[in-house]
Amino acid sequence: PNKVGLAGSPTKVIKVQPPPKTRNPEIKYVGKDQDVIDWLVQKIRESLTEDSGQSLKYERPKPKAKTEREVWVYVDHVDGEPNPASWEIMGEGRRIADLMSTSLSAVVIGDRVDKVVGEAFQYGADKVYHARTKGYNLYDNDVFTQALSRLVKKYSPEAVLFPGSRNPRELASTTAIAVDTGLIADCTNFDVDEKGILHSTRPDFGGKEMSTIICPNHRPVMVTVRPGVFRPLPRTERKGEVIREEVEDLFTRFKVLETRKVERRNVLAEADVVVGVGRGIRDPENIKLAEELAEKLGGVVGVTKPLADSGWYPKDRQVGQTGVTIRPKLYIALGISGAVQHLVGIAGARKVIAINLDPEAQIFQNSDYGVVGDLFQVVPELLRRL
Ligand code: FAD
Repeated sequence: PNKVGLAGSPTKVIKVQPPPKTRNPEIKYVGKDQDVIDWLVQKIRESLTEDSGQSLKYERPKPKAKTEREVWVYVDHVDGEPNPASWEIMGEGRRIADLMSTSLSAVVIGDRVDKVVGEAFQYGADKVYHARTKGYNLYDNDVFTQALSRLVKKYSPEAVLFPGSRNPRELASTTAIAVDTGLIADCTNFDVDEKGILHSTRPDFGGKEMSTIICPNHRPVMVTVRPGVFRPLPRTERKGEVIREEVEDLFTRFKVLETRKVERRNVLAEADVVVGVGRGIRDPENIKLAEELAEKLGGVVGVTKPLADSGWYPKDRQVGQTGVTIRPKLYIALGISGAVQHLVGIAGARKVIAINLDPEAQIFQNSDYGVVGDLFQVVPELLRRL
């Protein structure tokens, strides 16, 4: 709807552009260049030994504006256990607050949330607002919307960022309606202009374009942030001021009948090395080759959507827009063309190596190192040398 500029929409698209090319590829051709496999082994080794502390170090950006109101990050939790996606958003929230020269606050809703409040400081918050919802510690959309909208109306922040996980996405939309402001969903990039207005960028049209959206006249701007894109700040021992608000007269239309814990760890999201497999692998039997390579490098296998859709590999191993966003130290793409929907899932990988027969394949433009060649020739040789 934003694209056609619906009358009355609080948000406005200000720029649409193709996804940025973030890497500068170095490419070798099998059969043309010398010692391609040696070079590949060296690049793999380098990728795995590079100092990982580097990317965690926070460098305070130069402020672009001076904003009076604060930046808030909503901290998601399940019965007092923080959702780690919140700390990634806190990391980016810190940068946004610094660009606006304002302070960064965490918002925590619930009854027993001491652990969440403590960790919010350790991951970068200057201040924590705790809306105490007596008797409600689990997420309840009615209760949490009332609590958050009261806090927002009372303290009037500039922006509220939410992790793009299930409950916060819902809470962001119901709260945006309750306080009559705009919501920009599923963002992957942020900037601030000289007026202190937040520019939020998100993939649109199935990832073919990036739209930059602002909320010019309503405050706060509400934003959900795609999990897995940003990194948390290094954890510290800092503490700060907690502002507690008892939220009275809560009502809910929901009644929780039962709660059950579900194990939802995804090995892909946590792996340091991911070997990605695409249609170039030709036959499900051949995925063994990728598994062998992954095992040798202490990693796991991920796949493109067509492979997951045809049941060649489990759906929870699909990398990309409708799969998992990954951030390994090294991603090796075997026989993957590099569709944008796949690329958004690997944007956070530290190094990307692609092996593909087609020198024109898009994946090469989004890789650090590429080998133009047959994966059935390159991978067995690579396995022998590693
Ligand atoms: P192809 O595009 O067919 O590429 C195969 C590649 O293998 C080619 O580049 C070819 O040159 C190479 N090749 C062939 N033989 C060899 C060989 N012997 N050695 C080396 N290379 C070889 N896709 C995802 O991956 N993740 C998503 O989350 C996702 N979400 C989507 C959401 C939507 C709404 C839509 C519309 C699409 C989505 N897709 C997603 C699909 C995406 O658009 C592409 O169709 C898909 O990523 C292509 O998969 P592929 O690279 O395996 O296959």
